[in-house]
Parts: sequence; C-alpha cells; structure tokens
Amino acid sequence: MSKPKIVVLGAGYAGMMTTKRLMQKLGPDKAEIVLVNKHNYHYQTTWLHEVAAGTRNQNQARMMISDVINPNRVSLIYDEVTEVKKEENRVVLKNSEVSYDYLVISLGFETNTFGIKGMEKNAFSITDIESSRMIREHIEYQFAKYSTSVKKNENDLTILVGGGGFTGIEFVGELAEQVPKLCKKYDIDRSKARIINVEAAPRILPGFNDDLVAYAKKSLEDRGVEIREGAKISECKKNSFVIGDDGEEIKAGTIVWTGGVTGNSILGKSGFEITKGKVTVESDLRAPGEENIFIIGDCAWVMNKEEGRPFPPTAQAAMQHADTCATNLKGLILNEQLESFTFDDKGTVASLGKSDAMGTVFSERLLYGTPATAMKKVIDNRYLFLLGGPKLILKKGKLRML
Ligand code: FAD
Repeated sequence: MSKPKIVVLGAGYAGMMTTKRLMQKLGPDKAEIVLVNKHNYHYQTTWLHEVAAGTRNQNQARMMISDVINPNRVSLIYDEVTEVKKEENRVVLKNSEVSYDYLVISLGFETNTFGIKGMEKNAFSITDIESSRMIREHIEYQFAKYSTSVKKNENDLTILVGGGGFTGIEFVGELAEQVPKLCKKYDIDRSKARIINVEAAPRILPGFNDDLVAYAKKSLEDRGVEIREGAKISECKKNSFVIGDDGEEIKAGTIVWTGGVTGNSILGKSGFEITKGKVTVESDLRAPGEENIFIIGDCAWVMNKEEGRPFPPTAQAAMQHADTCATNLKGLILNEQLESFTFDDKGTVASLGKSDAMGTVFSERLLYGTPATAMKKVIDNRYLFLLGGPKLILKKGKLRML
C-alpha cells in the first residue's frame, strides 16, 4: 500500500513547526511529507518590524528552509499556492500542482485596510521580508533626499504609522532608535524628524493592561514618538492621513499601515466558509466538514469556548496549533484518538525598541523595562531552539541579552 501524502502549505511559524513535528512523530515509512512555500527561505514574521525600521538586517530575520528541514525527508516545493481544489484533493500552484491525502493550510495573513479610502494604494504595510525591506529603503531615501535637496521639505522626515496595536507600537519603538541614527548619518537636526502613531480607539494597545499601556506610552513619548489616540483615519492620500471629524491632514514622507490583518485570501478563493477573512475550525483544527484538511495559524479562528470568542492570532498560538495538528495527523494515519486544541497562554511581551519592552508572563505577571527586554529575547530564541536547536540560536539568535 502506498504511503499517505501530507502537504503543508506555507512555511511560517505554523507550517514550519507542523513539518518539524511530523518528522518527529511519523517515520519515513509512515507518511510522505511535502512543504510548499512561496520562497526558499523562512522568515520570522515577529521580527519584520525591525527589518522595516532598519534596526535588523533582513538576512538575520530569515533562514533557508533546507537548513532546518531535511530535504531528504521532506519534499520542498518553492512555488506560490493559487487555489485549493478540495473536492479533488489537489492544490494548484503558480507553476505546477500537487495532490494530497492530508492537507495543512498555514498560509498566514494579509493586510486588512478596512476599506479606508486610499490606504491600500498609498501606504506601505509590514507583511513579509520584501515589503519590510522596501519600507526601510524608502525611509532612508527620504532622509538622504532631504539632506541633499536645496528646497527642503520637512514633511519628508515624518513617518506616519496607522494603527496603535501590537505591530504599530513595536514598529514605532524601533523607529525611535533608528531615526536619531539616520539624523546623525545625514546631518539632520533630530527635532525636524517626526514619528507619529495614529490610533482610532481611545487608547493604543487594545487588550493590554492599563499600567502596561501607560508605561509603553511614556517610554515612546520620552523618545519623541507622537501618539494620537481616538484619531480615526478617514483617508490616506499620497503623502498624508486625513483624520478626525474636522478632517485634519497630517503630511508625511513615509506612511505605513499596521492597523489590521486578515487570513490569506486563498481560503475564500478555494470555497471555504469565511468569517472575517478566516475559517472557524473545529476543536481538532480541521476545517468544518473536511476529514482531511487542517487550517492553522493566522488563517484560522480557533474558538476559546470559555470566553465565547476566538483566541488572538499570534505566533505563540500558531506554534501550539502546529503541535495539535501534527498529533492529529498522526492520529488519522495510525487510527488513534484525535485531540482537541487547548491554548497554553505563556503571556505576551511587546518590544519598544531594542532597550525597552513590556508585557505579561505566566499568570498575568507584569514585566517592564530590562526584565521584559530579556524575556522578549528568550521568547525569540526559544522559537529558534525548537526549530533548529542551539546551532540555529548561535547562527540567527538574539544573543546580546540587553
Ligand atoms: P506566517 O508566519 O505569516 O507564515 C505564512 C507563510 O506562508 C509565509 O512563509 C509566507 O511566505 C507563506 N505564504 C503566504 N502566501 C503564500 C502562497 N500563496 N503560496 C505559498 N506560500 C505562501 N505574534 C506573537 O505571538 N508575538 C509577537 O511578538 C508578534 N509580533 C509581531 C510583529 C509583527 C511585525 C507582525 C506582522 C506580527 C507579529 N505577531 C506576533 C503575529 C505573528 O507573526 C503571526 O500570528 C504569525 O506569524 C502567524 O503564523 P503563520 O504561520 O500563520 O503565518
């Protein structure tokens, strides 16, 4: 009898960890494993704000997939998924196609601009290595242009960030460190460059404890970040946001939207039932009505039954989905009982640049400043350890703890 073929779509946190776990749980005689990804490299999405700000080299935030997944054990296909033909157990790729017995969809997120006029066209967004690199280069170009132009436009030196959630705040935290360096490099007076974060909700970092939010605000404002809360963006023009009821216009040389994400649009194209851009999966992480398709990571809503709403989409959750998904694939293949996903909340730490952070760890313990910065690095390095052991930490890890 031929071996069952498991195809994993997307090599992000969820896809990489699922593949890794499958290699550990199923011997080569038990299943064929295929991993499909757009690029031949894997990147840590949670580090992209650093690449976008220019505080981390893009090559440190990515690694060749074949360096951590043995290509002799897993067939690696570098191609773009365009559609899943679930009735035919087949995935259509840009340049070929692949059939499957079991499928894992872990294609991550796409930007959601909530239909704000002009946002998609005029703002950058932090979605992958390329888009982050473009932001870094654009910001640097604005500073270089300002320093060499005869007729100087100070708006070129303003960086406008839409969205005061996790990504937006981590990004302005990095900018607070990078902008003074750029000013120094291009002989620009620091007071001329502005970093402005615009959030529609009454306060930044929704979902975070009030004390942590106050700490983050002070840390950022002390380093020159302007925070505009309760400021709804009605339009994004080529070089400005229009905000509030009075239509105030804030001009900038760089505009970045971080205010929303949704699941990969391949889901809808492939005929899955979508709720707010994602598929609400069963407790065993399979798509409703599908015996052989798992949907995990940012493509899935996984319900927190106690609270009657989905768990927030995070890398931490994506990695835990991967464990349950791999266990259940083994269960299906070896006729074992499937398990339900349970989320083990280890806390959340947000960086505010390289030297400051805040968040919660175990049982809602609040962390600020140096201990939070160290904890953030432990979290980042832990992922590398799970993926590639100590060797990968030495190669790609954040080794300077403070
Ligand atoms: P991803 O990690 O995004 O991976 C998706 C993969 O699919 C990518 O490799 C992509 O190239 C590939 N892909 C996409 N489309 C296709 C296609 N059509 N064909 C082939 N391949 C495709 N979460 C935390 O827990 N802690 C944090 O500190 C944190 N910080 C963040 C900071 C930033 C700047 C951002 C943007 C997010 C952050 N998050 C954080 C959220 C976290 O990154 C996501 O929840 C996590 O990446 C989801 O994992 P995933 O595997 O579903 O998707």
